[in-house]
Amino acid sequence: MFQLDEEQRLILQSVREIVQKEIKPQVATLEETGEFSWDVLRILASNDVLNPLLPRQYGGVEVSIFTFCMIVEEIARACASSALLLITQAEGTLSIVLGADESLKERYLKRLAGDSQVLIGVSVIEPNADSDILSAPAKAERCGDHFLLHGNKCFVKNGSVADFLVLYANVDRSEESHGIHTFLVEKGIPGLVNKRDEDRMGMRGSIYSEFDLDHLVVPSENLIDQKGGGFSNSLKTLSASRLFTAAQAVGLAQGAMEEAISYARRRAQFGKSISHYAPIQFMIAEMATGIESARLLTYQTAFLFDRGEWKKAETHAAMAKLIASDTAMKVTTDAVQIMGGYGYMKDYPVERMMRDAKLTQIFTGTNQIIKSIIGRNLTGMS
Ligand SMILES: Cc1cc2nc3c(=O)[nH]c(=O)nc-3n(C[C@H](O)[C@H](O)[C@H](O)COP(=O)(O)OP(=O)(O)OC[C@H]3O[C@@H](n4cnc5c(N)ncnc54)[C@H](O)[C@@H]3O)c2cc1C
Repeated sequence: MFQLDEEQRLILQSVREIVQKEIKPQVATLEETGEFSWDVLRILASNDVLNPLLPRQYGGVEVSIFTFCMIVEEIARACASSALLLITQAEGTLSIVLGADESLKERYLKRLAGDSQVLIGVSVIEPNADSDILSAPAKAERCGDHFLLHGNKCFVKNGSVADFLVLYANVDRSEESHGIHTFLVEKGIPGLVNKRDEDRMGMRGSIYSEFDLDHLVVPSENLIDQKGGGFSNSLKTLSASRLFTAAQAVGLAQGAMEEAISYARRRAQFGKSISHYAPIQFMIAEMATGIESARLLTYQTAFLFDRGEWKKAETHAAMAKLIASDTAMKVTTDAVQIMGGYGYMKDYPVERMMRDAKLTQIFTGTNQIIKSIIGRNLTGMS
């Protein structure tokens, strides 16, 4: 069912080589410093891997969503934070591709072409309205030829390192969800105040920032979705980012399982390799079964996106994110268990993978909210 064509095979082979030779050796430093890796950015950009979804007419490679998921998976196998860099770029790109008019696309998408290192930040979340996005307090008031934005933003992906932000704010409260729109906001303009970068348990090679929007002036032409459809485009983008989270979680889990198998083969106790013992084999069997199930649902969902079946894709993306993130959490925890005391040590990558996996159960909607979305879509009840 999932046969790769020649182009996909070549792309994946080249991504695998870049990851193994250039990115994997940097992961320990990334993890230790918790700082953004400009080097990883340079490696991804110079190999044309940073923006694989960028449409051809703006200078991109424009791979399918399926191919993109496989690229994310391959990178996450070694480094989930580096995979997140691509996911954030893709989320920002999709917001523009789905909603912006031609002049905005020309202005912003062309900046991402070729070996560009231009970074997009994505700002959805507010401190008091994470799961309940409709109560988003960031306000955008229309004032003649510009909007005036007020509020606070947290968990802004690529926040302090981004060149421009895709930022969600509510233009008209009376329209509830339909009042939420996205804006393109240039870095460094007055009123966009970077308060701090947030410290994290995992994904330590990524940047998340907090911003105050203090009389932030955004020109009207920087409103994405001039023709309406703002919230439905945002939901499409959010669904896509759930699918990308699923791909990232599958890669993370695969990487952790490979580490555990390799260690189990090498480690001898009571006179033989621990891989002989049934409890170890059972854990590995459960890992492989979970990963393969999550991968299949992820790929199937990617095909729904590629065919433009958005409504069905929304529920499937939620299901893929649920199974893949829960699998990643279980697999990485069991990988630590298989490696015993050494699994708990920072000398091996599985403790990092376990911390990284936790975020996949939380971001793009906690798995509790994700279950509500699946249940609501299947029953038709709000
Ligand atoms: C490092 C980091 C990165 C992030 N990156 C992203 C991102 O890339 N994209 C993105 O969209 N978000 C991102 N987020 C935000 C993340 O999606 C939110 O943290 C998440 O939605 C939960 O919001 P909250 O933290 O305010 O928890 P709350 O909404 O306060 O929830 C607290 C608990 O209550 C439960 N809960 C809340 N409401 C309900 C309900 N109606 N039914 C059942 N249970 C409920 C939640 O599941 C959770 O267990 C990120 C968060 C972090 C920490």
